[in-house]
Amino acid sequence: RDLDILQELAGAAMDRIELVQSAATDSLTEAMTRRAFKQEADQLISLALRHQHDLSCIAFDIDHFKKVNDTYGHAAGDAVLKAVASICKATLRAGDLFGRIGGEEFAVVLPHVDREGAFAVAEKLRAAIAAQPIRGDHGSLNVTASFGTSALSIVSKEIETLLAQADAAMYQAKHAGRNRCVSWSSIHADHAIGARRR
Ligand code: GH3
Ligand code: MG
Ligand code: MG
Repeated sequence: RDLDILQELAGAAMDRIELVQSAATDSLTEAMTRRAFKQEADQLISLALRHQHDLSCIAFDIDHFKKVNDTYGHAAGDAVLKAVASICKATLRAGDLFGRIGGEEFAVVLPHVDREGAFAVAEKLRAAIAAQPIRGDHGSLNVTASFGTSALSIVSKEIETLLAQADAAMYQAKHAGRNRCVSWSSIHADHAIGARRR
């Protein structure tokens, strides 16, 4: 009888775990949902601050994605999102967080990685996406993405701040011609120099 009770409890616990996991995972790309990503990121940031180790953030957005949908259809767009997520997961480490934070916008949190390291990872992801033809019913097509990076510091120690900085850098990458990476520290330095000049 005890065994039966234990088995029933274990079953209920597994159901609960599966429910939490499925709520935290985006069904199309299997990346974390925005909410789950932020929750986990907060925990990793607390750890990084407590133990004084590096942590950085990447945000990226697929270039001209509307054109993919318009030219090949929404299903092809979905296939592209899936393929891009799969390329990223294959490139990132197991301890990195990877989330879909918007329609075709993704973000990464890299524990133990500083700002130069984050830029190198972003560059690796950018090159991998650009190099991989995405095949499906739509034929074969290539996409690119624009990346922004930011890093944990005294003044940027919340995931909202890190994401906002990475996002601002990503928009700079879009304006500079897309399919490139920009570090928030570089645009911030430019602003600081501009302010001093003024
Ligand atoms: P940019 O290079 O400036 O980023 O141009 P863009 O065309 O990619 O512009 P934007 O990032 O604003 O495009 C977002 C588009 O992504 C609009 C929306 O139709 C499409 N989208 C959002 N979510 C999904 C989805 O789940 N599936 C598909 N197929 N398309 C999506
Ligand atoms: Mg977008
Ligand atoms: Mg886009």
